[in-house]
Amino acid sequence: MKDMKTRYIFVTGGVLSSLGKGLAAASLGALLQARGLSVTIQKLDPYINIDPGTMNPFQHGEVFVTDDGAETDLDLGHYERYLNTPMSHKNNTTSGAIYNNVIARERRGDYLGATVQVIPHITDEIKSRILSLSEGPDAPDVAIIEIGGTVGDIEGLPFLEAIRQLRSELGRDNCLNIHLTLVPYLRTAGEHKTKPTQHSVKELLSIGIQPDIILCRCEHTIPAELRKKIALFCNVDQDAVFSSVDVGNIYEVPLKFYDEGFDQKVAIMLRLPARNARLESWKKLVNDFASPLGRVTIAIVGKYVDLKEAYKSLHEALVHAGVANRVAVDLRYVNSEQVNRANEDELFADCDGILVPGGFGYRGVEGKIEAIRYARENKIPFFGICLGMQCAVIEFARNVAGMERANSEEFDEKTPENVIYLLREWYDYRTSNLEKRDATSDKGGTMRLGAYPCTLTHGTIAHAAYGEENISERHRHRYEFNNKFKEKLGECGLVFSGNSPDGSLVEIVELTEHPWFVGCQFHPEFKSRPMEAHPLFRDFIRAAVDYARSHDRVEQAPGAATMAEC
Ligand code: GLN
Repeated sequence: MKDMKTRYIFVTGGVLSSLGKGLAAASLGALLQARGLSVTIQKLDPYINIDPGTMNPFQHGEVFVTDDGAETDLDLGHYERYLNTPMSHKNNTTSGAIYNNVIARERRGDYLGATVQVIPHITDEIKSRILSLSEGPDAPDVAIIEIGGTVGDIEGLPFLEAIRQLRSELGRDNCLNIHLTLVPYLRTAGEHKTKPTQHSVKELLSIGIQPDIILCRCEHTIPAELRKKIALFCNVDQDAVFSSVDVGNIYEVPLKFYDEGFDQKVAIMLRLPARNARLESWKKLVNDFASPLGRVTIAIVGKYVDLKEAYKSLHEALVHAGVANRVAVDLRYVNSEQVNRANEDELFADCDGILVPGGFGYRGVEGKIEAIRYARENKIPFFGICLGMQCAVIEFARNVAGMERANSEEFDEKTPENVIYLLREWYDYRTSNLEKRDATSDKGGTMRLGAYPCTLTHGTIAHAAYGEENISERHRHRYEFNNKFKEKLGECGLVFSGNSPDGSLVEIVELTEHPWFVGCQFHPEFKSRPMEAHPLFRDFIRAAVDYARSHDRVEQAPGAATMAEC
């Protein structure tokens, strides 16, 4: 056993997916951090894609982008938001990435003629990625490893085998297995049911993993005698069975866990040098969220309105901005394909702000452009993100600058008025580098990804929001503003308030004759934090509050925020 500082916590899920493993892992991390420990989290995804970058948001939800340009699982967004720590490519890996690496090494002859097998080669690669978290002088006190999928899935087996092996290699006391299961409440029988949990633990035991802690996702706190029963049948301590109850606000989860004594038990079992938890900021957050002084309605005009997971960070950033302004933000998801001149008054009735988020492909774009025209002409606060910013430029070019054929090359390759275009130098540079690095990649990897610096112009809405000149934000797109049209659009009133430091790339556009109209080429939602709302989201919601006030909308309407669809 090597002398190690970092303790490992492995989180597995049982019975079914979507139990909130990511939130549970992030909440536990936040609590351990509140106890003065340094924490990192890693997500291991058993699917074969190298990363979720090429996956349809309908299937996989949002692709979360890190500073170093990794396209990752949306759980990393929770990790960043709960730990207030930037994640990197190290914090998410997939079966695809693991196999890719092992196969590349096999092709290079690194295995010296050996038969390359799941055990030990794949499992060794998994272990080395897990252990990479505790390398170097900044090794954290705790590394939480979340295994994606559900115990019993064929594709998850190598990961479970890897964590089984690691426990004996790292020392039994340096690792902890937490199993999250579902304990359903059967209304007709009037009782909780433990059988699915028992089966799931049995499945884990059959592959050599004994959970130390069982975390039960449930509607109501599990009664003491039931915990005893689960402890008895699953071979865990009686005080190692915890409830993870349904909550209205996900930021309540750490406090609920704390009330249960979950983090304390973890700290004791791992002999962690933990102090008392400092949870004032979490309590304030939950309290402020629960007691808004007013409310605003924001229309989100997008294509993926049926799947909220596709806009996860965006949704959270709006929640944070609501808390910062002490208002509830009611979201109205508007399907952009349905927006037209005839129905926009109705669709946007009582909206205090319109937001057009990022996206790919032409479907629904004309509706987005129409919604932006409506926001611009009616002086409704508008926020455009990535594709939303590109659509704002197209709308302005068409309807203000009189460029009828203005478009993005993404939607009309031949248009002479390609105000948004594919930056060839960038594309060529990326593709040629990719060829050198990875000949198998064509779709993935041609985007501008990750953090890039941006310089803000004094006296603009953007500069007022950030309060500083130099910022860094995360990108995920192929197309850019075409500088050929900068002068013309500038003369017509479009303000380029954020640019790359060398001036070659437009990062933020805004309007002056409007209360709040901002479009940014980057994705600010990735950097918003519950206790520190992103400046652009914060000011957008502030503008929406002003708009609501000027329209005599009811402000004193307490209650939690809602989500509606049009
Ligand atoms: N489709 C646009 C592009 O590739 C915008 C991408 C996005 O909104 N993330 O540039």
